[in-house]
Amino acid sequence: MASELDLSRDRLDAPFARRVEELSGENPYACYQCGKCSAGCPFADYMDALPNQVLRLVQLGDESALDLSAPWVCASCLACGVRCPKGVDIAKTMEALRLLALRKGISPAPATPDRPCPQIALVGAYRKLTP
Ligand code: SF4
Ligand code: SF4
Repeated sequence: MASELDLSRDRLDAPFARRVEELSGENPYACYQCGKCSAGCPFADYMDALPNQVLRLVQLGDESALDLSAPWVCASCLACGVRCPKGVDIAKTMEALRLLALRKGISPAPATPDRPCPQIALVGAYRKLTP
């Protein structure tokens, strides 16, 4: 059985959430979980948590967000940010999570037959190699 969620103010104003906000410049608490980001994400089917669920973990200060493959599958296409009624740029949040994961020594999500390399690696390569 799933453990109960601790929704106390102490937990909701978690240091982890503040760290992600500091790195991304995006306020995770602006998200009200409407799900529009996830509905429009072209890579949602390949993620182990939907973009709005990633945001929820961050809001709860749950560092298990760093173990997800979702930030590595995200291609920074920005479709979520365009759809978000609260103007949350999730691509920046995903980037912050990748940074924090790397700093903690957590490796990018392993390759799978469906996803031969982290999506973001392709995006990074295109950005570097195209004039
Ligand atoms: S930026 Fe990432 S999370 Fe947002 S829609 Fe694109 S792939 Fe999905
Ligand atoms: S679209 Fe914006 S407000 Fe809605 S769930 Fe996604 S991040 Fe939250």
